[in-house]
Amino acid sequence: MHPTPDALTALRDALAGWYHARRRRLPWREDPSPYRVWISEIMLQQTQVATVLPYFDRFVAAFPDVAALAAAPEQDVLALWSGLGYYRRARHLHEAAREVVAQHGGAVPEDPAALMRLKGVGPYTAAAISSIAFGRPAAVLDGNVSRVLARLVAEERPVDTAPVQRDQWALAEALLDPADPASHNQAMMELGALICSPRTPDCGGCPAAPWCDARRLGRPLDFPKKAGRTVVKSVYAVCGLATREDGTLLLARRPDDVLLGGLWELPGDELPHARARRRDAVTAAFEARLGLAVAVDGHLATVEHVFTHRRLTLDVYAVRGPVPDPPTRRWYTDAAWVDRAAPDAVPLSRLTHKVLAAVAAPRATPGGPR
Ligand code: SF4
Repeated sequence: MHPTPDALTALRDALAGWYHARRRRLPWREDPSPYRVWISEIMLQQTQVATVLPYFDRFVAAFPDVAALAAAPEQDVLALWSGLGYYRRARHLHEAAREVVAQHGGAVPEDPAALMRLKGVGPYTAAAISSIAFGRPAAVLDGNVSRVLARLVAEERPVDTAPVQRDQWALAEALLDPADPASHNQAMMELGALICSPRTPDCGGCPAAPWCDARRLGRPLDFPKKAGRTVVKSVYAVCGLATREDGTLLLARRPDDVLLGGLWELPGDELPHARARRRDAVTAAFEARLGLAVAVDGHLATVEHVFTHRRLTLDVYAVRGPVPDPPTRRWYTDAAWVDRAAPDAVPLSRLTHKVLAAVAAPRATPGGPR
């Protein structure tokens, strides 16, 4: 596409027509109050719409406005985020709600610069809130939009470099519809999500097809090009399941400033290398992190979990030993016996949900990794 004024206007109109006819009805679109748009944009960072929908409904039902969110205890906010992943988003959102109450009288600011001063709000999210909730002419550029733009102009340079990012921002701004930036930005996002997908772009059903160089060249999958390659690191860990006859299990709360901070889990630790002795590591983890001397019984399960740049293999063992009530803690900031049938009484990560599902009907085996 040569981004001449005529081409930009024609493409803009085609996008608008397609969006108004085909857009998905989503709760934050039907009622785009600044607070709801803000919550949706934070939840949609790194998470698919289908996953976000039930979380969004529960979250805004529990915290219907900024003041309610600001006044809530952090544990309640994290509990409603439990399973959605990237928990720092929830903690930042909570902190930002308190800033909005303290500094803006509880009203979400309109201006992208003011929005960007809030915790967890970067340039993309600020532009999205400002345009969708307030109709301000702020262009958006996220992974989806960047892919669409790279294909429209058949960008041969790597998009994850500063000069191309600058050019993509300039193109996004030139293409923005000043009369209806809210619909335009959502049309670009929707096009990237529904039509111009990473691996199976539907060029035949695409409203931008007449202007798209990647389609004209017959090689949409060649774009966008990336300079850096993400290295996924394999990591290994262990944890121990301690249970009592009253149907409770021992969970411990991770410190705030680490990965999955503030969430509760079966006590355990990462291994220094793949060949470390698992059972010894379980004993050491209970000793170092809770001050408890436990004996390790059978191997219960092996759980695989992928984080952004880490592939975790977690071995779960049954443990027994004298555990005081309330349990002691050292590295963990809290520990408690929690009803095994309702572990969500405390906020859990997706990983811990997976572990609990894997040990739901534990069949301890004396073997397993050593
Ligand atoms: S024509 Fe194909 S490659 Fe181009 S924007 Fe549309 S879906 Fe993407």
